[in-house]
Amino acid sequence: KHEGKNTYRFFDESMDTLMQRRVFLQQQLEQAVQSDKELSLRYQPQVCAQTGLVTGAEVLLRWETESGEWISPAEFIGLAEETGLIMEVSNWLMESMFRQMAAWNRKKLPFGCISMNVSAVQLAREDLAAHLSELMQRFRIPVNQISVEITETTLMADSELVSDNLKKLKQAGLTLAIDDFGTGYSSLSYLKAIDADYLKIDRSFVIGIGENASDERIVEATIALAHSLKLRVVAEGVDSEHQLEFLREAGCETIQGYLFARPLTAEEFECYVEDKNMQ
Ligand code: C2E
Ligand code: CA
Ligand code: CA
Ligand code: CA
Repeated sequence: KHEGKNTYRFFDESMDTLMQRRVFLQQQLEQAVQSDKELSLRYQPQVCAQTGLVTGAEVLLRWETESGEWISPAEFIGLAEETGLIMEVSNWLMESMFRQMAAWNRKKLPFGCISMNVSAVQLAREDLAAHLSELMQRFRIPVNQISVEITETTLMADSELVSDNLKKLKQAGLTLAIDDFGTGYSSLSYLKAIDADYLKIDRSFVIGIGENASDERIVEATIALAHSLKLRVVAEGVDSEHQLEFLREAGCETIQGYLFARPLTAEEFECYVEDKNMQ
C-alpha cells in the first residue's frame, strides 16, 4: 500500500512537470510568434528520382528560444494545435514563405514547388483556399508553386468543413499531397475521399528498404496503388543509395531525405538549386 502511494505521488509530480512545461512553452511560443525573432523556416529539397533535378522543397518550422534551446516541431506543433495558437503560427509561416518565394521569383531561381504542412485545426477553422489566394495575389505567386501536405490525423478530423476546404484548395488549382501515408487508420478510405496529386510514403517504411522484406513489399505495393489511382509518389526520409535505387526501380517519382539534403536555410536552399538546376 505504501509503495502504491509513492508510485502515485511520483506519477503526480511528473504530470505536474509536464503541465508546467506545456504552460511555459505555450507562453513562449505566443511571444515567439509576436516577436518574429525565434521562429524560422527550413526548406528540405525534393529531387526527381530520374534526373536528380530539384523539383521543390518541403517547408519545415524551426523554433530557437531566446535562451538558445531548439524545440522540435514534433513537440510544439501539437501544443499549438491544442491551444489554437497554430493559427498564428501558420499565418506567420505563410507570410514568411510567400515573401521568400517572391524574392526567389525576382531572382528567377527555378525552385519548383514549395510544399507546406497543414494542420487539422487550420482546415477546420479557416477558409484556407481564400487565405492562400489572397497571399498568391499579394506576392504574385503562381498556383503551381504551392503544394499542401495533409496528414491522416488532419483527415481524421473528418468534418464537412475539412472536406469542403480540401475541395476548395483543389478547385483553386493547388497541388495536394497525402502525408505520412500508411501510418494512420484508414489510409485507403482517404485515397477515395480526397482528390490528391501526390502520396508521400512515410519514412518508417523507407527505413526498412534493404532490411525488411515486408517493408519492401509495402513500398512497392503502395507505389503501384498510387499509380493506378493516377497519383505520383514522394518518398520521405531517404538516406541511402540503396533506398534510392530501390525506389527508383519501383517507379517512385520524387525523393526527399538526408541522402540529398537536410532541411536547409533559405540561403542554403538557393545555392542547392543553383548548383543542381542551373548548369
Ligand atoms: P513530416 O511532415 O513527416 O516531416 C518530415 C520530417 O522528417 C522532418 O522533421 C524532416 O526533418 C525529417 N526528415 C527528412 N528526411 C529525413 C531523413 O533522411 N532522415 C531522418 N531521420 N529524418 C528526416 P521535422 O522538421 O522535425 O518535422 C517533424 C514534423 O513536424 C513534420 O513531420 C510535420 O508533421 C511537423 N511540422 C513541421 N513543420 C510544420 C509546419 O509548418 N506545420 C505543421 N502543421 N506541421 C509541421
Ligand atoms: Ca510533411
Ligand atoms: Ca511526412
Ligand atoms: Ca513522416
